[in-house]
Amino acid sequence: MNVKKIKEVLSWPLVFLLFAMLTGCPGVEQTTDADEGVAKVRRSIILQYTRQGRLTPAVRESLMALTTSDELQDYAKQQDQAYLEQLPIDGRLCMEMLNEVVGIGPRFSGSGGMLKQQQMLDKYFSDLGGEVEYQRFKARNPISQQGVETVDMANMIIRWHPKRTRRILLCAHYDTRPFPDNDPDPEKRRGIFVGANDGGSGVAVLCALADKMEEFDSEYGVDMVLFDGEELVYDSSRDPFFLGSTHFAREYAAKLPRQKYVAGILLDMVADADLQIYQEVNSRRMAPRVVQQVWSTAKRIGVTELRPSARHEVRDDHLPLNEIAKIPTIDLIDFDYPSPQKRETYWHTTEDTADKCSAISMAHVGWVVWEWLQGLE
Ligand code: ZN
Repeated sequence: MNVKKIKEVLSWPLVFLLFAMLTGCPGVEQTTDADEGVAKVRRSIILQYTRQGRLTPAVRESLMALTTSDELQDYAKQQDQAYLEQLPIDGRLCMEMLNEVVGIGPRFSGSGGMLKQQQMLDKYFSDLGGEVEYQRFKARNPISQQGVETVDMANMIIRWHPKRTRRILLCAHYDTRPFPDNDPDPEKRRGIFVGANDGGSGVAVLCALADKMEEFDSEYGVDMVLFDGEELVYDSSRDPFFLGSTHFAREYAAKLPRQKYVAGILLDMVADADLQIYQEVNSRRMAPRVVQQVWSTAKRIGVTELRPSARHEVRDDHLPLNEIAKIPTIDLIDFDYPSPQKRETYWHTTEDTADKCSAISMAHVGWVVWEWLQGLE
């Protein structure tokens, strides 16, 4: 995916930070380095809980009463586990699946890692009762000077409730960028890129949603599609993006299938521990109804990480789906990785690793999608 322009908007995290500073500091009593360390840990927990919409007065009181960093961190860990228990989407399962795909290593199109990932996911989805199918095609190898002219591509399609004729498309790309070519350290730009958030997170959330599909009681069926070749890109100014989604959209448009997609959601970079998902500009333009439905769902259930304003215009797999296949599809993406307040980015760097990702973030995104599915009329 690439980003065309960035819109600066009112910075909510800054507001939260001010809030946390005003309300979360022990104030004048904080004198020693140790005290400051404890206050910093407390502030960051309060900030995170505020962002996640789960700072209750009781939790705040407990946090204020604890006096060491260890106590605060242990408390937060316990709170996180208890909170995850209550969510309808299993965040620990998300994290487990994310770790599993990241553990494979690089998974760029045509690689051994991609093949391993397909085998792993094939078994995972089949065991849950999904019908797995591959949409195979060949793409020109962008680095054909190495003697191999084409790359074998495969979109993976997993169907749930296949007899239902009105269908919903839930998708993500499952290939990873060949290299971390945006790394600030030039020496690392030909290093290893594992794509935890960019490549892993969408897959992980779909895995957790798959676990709910049996109980999805609706007139709608769901197809999950994992796109290959979203970024078989060695040179952003030369190599084409979205190979898998473009192929999928063309096939769909050419065949006019009996089973139609009513709407779609694309998940990309949804695991950031500092999750803040703004409405993506192209999604608002091309699929405004879906944007409106999804954001009002998030508001209703209290997932505050979905911010009701626009910030980035992102070119991603949803473009061919809207433009070629005419499936109104939005891109749920947190492009500020780690945060709008930070200049650095982990995007396409060696820093895009599982430790930057959060089970709660993924569970929240999955929960919004799950509620949206259930509310469809
Ligand atoms: Zn990417």
